[in-house]
Amino acid sequence: MVWKLSPVSVWRHRIPRYRLIGKECKKCGKHHYPPKLACPYCGSRDLKNIELPRSGIIETYTVIYEVGEEFRHKAPVVIGLVKLDDGTRVIAPITDVAEDELEIGLRVEATFRRIRDGDHFGVIGYGLSFRPIRTNVSKTSS
Ligand SMILES: [Zn+2]
Repeated sequence: MVWKLSPVSVWRHRIPRYRLIGKECKKCGKHHYPPKLACPYCGSRDLKNIELPRSGIIETYTVIYEVGEEFRHKAPVVIGLVKLDDGTRVIAPITDVAEDELEIGLRVEATFRRIRDGDHFGVIGYGLSFRPIRTNVSKTSS
C-alpha cells in the first residue's frame, strides 16, 4: 500500500514554515513573507529563500469581534501587522494576548498554532501567528 500523502510527508513539507522562510530579492535586496513568485517591491523574479528573524514588533493591529462560525471559539481575533527585526512586514494573528495588553510597538515572536483539526490522516494543520515576548513568566501584582 502506498500513501501519497502520509502524515510524515505533510510534516516534512511543513517544516520550512516552522522556520520562518521568506524571500530575499536579489535585485532590490528587500525581504518579503509569505514567499511570492515576484518581488512585491520591484517585480523581479530573481529571488532566494532566506530565514527571517522570528521576532519583531506590532506595527499596527485590528481586533475582529465578528468572525465566521469555525473561528467563533477564538473570538475576538487579533490580526497584527508585525515588523520583523529585519524590517519585513508580516500580517498574522496575534495570540496569547489580552486586549488591554495590545499596543503598537509590543514585542512579539513567531509561533505555530494548530489552525484546523485533523483530516483523514489525523494530520493537524498549523499556521503562523505571533505572541508577546514576556520576560517575566507570570504577571502577578503582588
Ligand atoms: Zn525587489
